[in-house]
Amino acid sequence: MKRVRAALLRWYKRNRRDLPWRRTPDPYAIWISETMLQQTRVETVIPYYERFLERFPTVEALSSAETEDVYGLWAGLGYYSRARNLHAAARCIVDEWNGRLPEDADGLRSLPGVGRYTAGAVASIAFDRPEPIVDGNVARVLSRLHGIREDVKSKAVVDRLWEEAGRLAVGPRPGDLNQALMELGATICTSRAPRCMACPIAIHCDANRRGDAEALPVRTPKTPPRAMEAAVAWIPRRGVVLAVRRPPGGLLGGLWELPGGEVGNGEKPAAALRRLLREGTGLEVGRARHLGCVKHGFTHRDLRLHVYRCESPTGRVRLNGFDAHKWLSPSRFDALAKGAATKKALGLIQGR
Ligand code: SF4
Repeated sequence: MKRVRAALLRWYKRNRRDLPWRRTPDPYAIWISETMLQQTRVETVIPYYERFLERFPTVEALSSAETEDVYGLWAGLGYYSRARNLHAAARCIVDEWNGRLPEDADGLRSLPGVGRYTAGAVASIAFDRPEPIVDGNVARVLSRLHGIREDVKSKAVVDRLWEEAGRLAVGPRPGDLNQALMELGATICTSRAPRCMACPIAIHCDANRRGDAEALPVRTPKTPPRAMEAAVAWIPRRGVVLAVRRPPGGLLGGLWELPGGEVGNGEKPAAALRRLLREGTGLEVGRARHLGCVKHGFTHRDLRLHVYRCESPTGRVRLNGFDAHKWLSPSRFDALAKGAATKKALGLIQGR
């Protein structure tokens, strides 16, 4: 383990990519980058990170920001719950931690949205604490290094991976060590065609010795996502259209969308939409014209979204299941924080 550690640190010193968050010791900036990097590619994150830090350079600036401003800067990065949690955590740091990020993993994990991975990353990189991290890249490297040939999602394997990562993290420069593991997984020990010839820990690697690196980590096939049908309405009225906002928390919490919802079993989409508009907004609509469908894949659901243009709305808006509404011009709708399916629906409408 000592030799693996030393080899990783030597390799990282010479080969680390120059990334904006690696040029700063600021724990706040490191926390922002680690949050943005979850499930998102490095190249995608860089411009978002730079804009976010420019607009909110300190935890105080983020804590006093309007939620809409935070969402606005996040738009396009996806997984908006991360933005919501960052904002809530910034307020918590200012109110309960004197404006300084907690230095240990337990303190960090007490913040909204900070899980084991982010806590380990911030504690080790920003505060030199010997805390492990396990993300997809680290799991792949460690599974191959130690020849772990059981389902990588099983509890036993997850526990083993954290244990192995914990053994490696103990020693000097734990932050560099953790970043070396992630960097190795991202650039050398890739899912397909790992470059074992260029790997600094090849002589210690079980999968390299056995020649089955590409078969690891072992994953049992996922259950296929559930098919789901929904319908939404573009409701124009004197040059403006109706947008509704989901309440905070839950899937797509705090994001704006077109009114509508899920089509029930055996229901026709147009009839379902009238029901959903009545129940969710209190509006009755006249003619509903089908503009087309868009598809979007969530982690556990495959969504087919019917998009309608509904004329002549009557009644006053009374929300049920949404927490705010706006009648606004199409260009202002474009500027709101929205989920990917709503963006696709708006793209379809603009195309028509
Ligand atoms: S030797 Fe190959 S499989 Fe093993 S850790 Fe290095 S790149 Fe990955």
